Amino acid sequence: MNVQARGANHPGNMVMLPFSNLRRLREERPLMFVKGKGIYTFDEHGRDYIEAVSTFYCVNLGFSDEELIEAAVEQLRALPMYPSGIHRTVPVVMELAERLAEKAPVRGGHVMFATTGSEANDQLLKFTWYANRVAGEPQRRKIISRRASYHGGTIATTALAGSPALQEAFGIPTGDSLFVSHPTWPIGADPGETEEAYTDRLVEELRQTIEAAGPETVAAFIAEPVSVSSGMFPPPVGYFQKVKALLDRYGIRLFADEVVTGFGRTGRLWGSETLGIEPDCISCAKGLSSAYQPISAVVMSDDFYSYLEEGSNSAGIFNHGGTYGGHPVSAAVALKVLDIFERRNILGHVQSIMPIWQKALASLEDHPLVTATRCFGLAGAVQIARPGEGGPVAASPSLAPGGLSEQLYQEGLAAGVVVRPLQGCVVLAPPLIITEAEIGELSRRLRVALDATLAALPR
Ligand code: PLP
Repeated sequence: MNVQARGANHPGNMVMLPFSNLRRLREERPLMFVKGKGIYTFDEHGRDYIEAVSTFYCVNLGFSDEELIEAAVEQLRALPMYPSGIHRTVPVVMELAERLAEKAPVRGGHVMFATTGSEANDQLLKFTWYANRVAGEPQRRKIISRRASYHGGTIATTALAGSPALQEAFGIPTGDSLFVSHPTWPIGADPGETEEAYTDRLVEELRQTIEAAGPETVAAFIAEPVSVSSGMFPPPVGYFQKVKALLDRYGIRLFADEVVTGFGRTGRLWGSETLGIEPDCISCAKGLSSAYQPISAVVMSDDFYSYLEEGSNSAGIFNHGGTYGGHPVSAAVALKVLDIFERRNILGHVQSIMPIWQKALASLEDHPLVTATRCFGLAGAVQIARPGEGGPVAASPSLAPGGLSEQLYQEGLAAGVVVRPLQGCVVLAPPLIITEAEIGELSRRLRVALDATLAALPR
């Protein structure tokens, strides 16, 4: 049976597809993708799609990269699996940890691998509670995150999602979670409010949240340097510096979720570098292996790590791990990603293509449906509204897809471009290897989708 025909006769609802309408899966065969090349994927009928969100912000080096495939095959042949643990590991895992620790903008650097971004963030919470117990502060458990943020799908990370509906739907306990506003400058500003005043207002909200919770109960603040999936609002100037200064006053740690921003998305290797942030810990995944293999990591500062080491020495072991954490094949691929970044000067390419990307997105602003575009690094958002309804947009971005952006997403598929619909906008984060000509083709397809969405509106 060839790859195209596989699954053709099975009702779609046998497999539960994430983030899908399960009833619709019963009635409709899902779109089936069978191969990829560069920035393109191809469905079972041979139609090509520009993956304008690198599928799920992850295939950053594009599809079918022979060097990445070779790296995986070579490791599969040598030693396909060896679980790291009980004082045993493999050379590629050690080497990857060293290179990550050296490159990450945390003071010192100690690495623990896992498989997904969710797991990395989950692990970070677990380690924080462990570290605080060792430090004699077991009551420091609360984690602050920002409304509309997403940090993963495990129980603990869902508790950090700024989406009460999501938590209610699954009955997630949120007793250790605190939420503050996500910056949406300039949309979220009060009339006449300056960028500085807006930042100060958000920092004051954070201070009040900490004070109300009891500062001695708050362990950490977790944030993405820039959140594509919250609508791509770059933080206002000075935001993270002021947040960090406040957290330091209370002894609260700063965690940067770099699952999406890590590995070049913002023009530097880390979003934290681009924004001048020095977090206590960083979580990363997706781009770490260009998503060719599942692998994630947390990189921890010397200070944070010292408590884990101390605790493990008292107990005899650090009692945490998983079969696939630091899988050799994934580690080999991730090492090759780091090589490719250097040898092919991926960051240089991203920086040189960023102005062309910004111009291409801005060129869509003349479209009747587009009310604004936002850009940061090689990511962006196209804000849309029905003509005549382009007034103020909701100040709080939402993960739930809205009507119009859902339509634009569907028309995008018809036009051969895959975007991610959020409420009031679609977001984009193409593979970092995208060329100027391909950016032109992406924006052409997006305009076709915008035209079709407009044409389909009731008059
Ligand atoms: N953190 C952020 C910012 C993400 O966008 C995601 C997923 O999109 C995750 C964590 C979870 O990563 P994963 O899907 O690999 O579990």
